[in-house]
Amino acid sequence: MPIYEYHCDDCGLEFSKLMRFSDPDIDSQPCTGCQSDHTFKKLSTIAVMHNNSLRGTTANNCGSSGPFT
Ligand SMILES: [Zn+2]
Repeated sequence: MPIYEYHCDDCGLEFSKLMRFSDPDIDSQPCTGCQSDHTFKKLSTIAVMHNNSLRGTTANNCGSSGPFT
């Protein structure tokens, strides 16, 4: 999931937002400290969860239909 980092122009707070892929690309978010709209996007980081994204898609669990002993 992409993580967007924002900087607040009013209070100087820097905060990050974890966005879903379905969310639109938003250039500004309300400041989490002072609720100001005067924020701007600093940078975006793609945080890829390899383990989670591969869960259930590998062939390693081909025997999962049987009981585990
Ligand atoms: Zn602020």
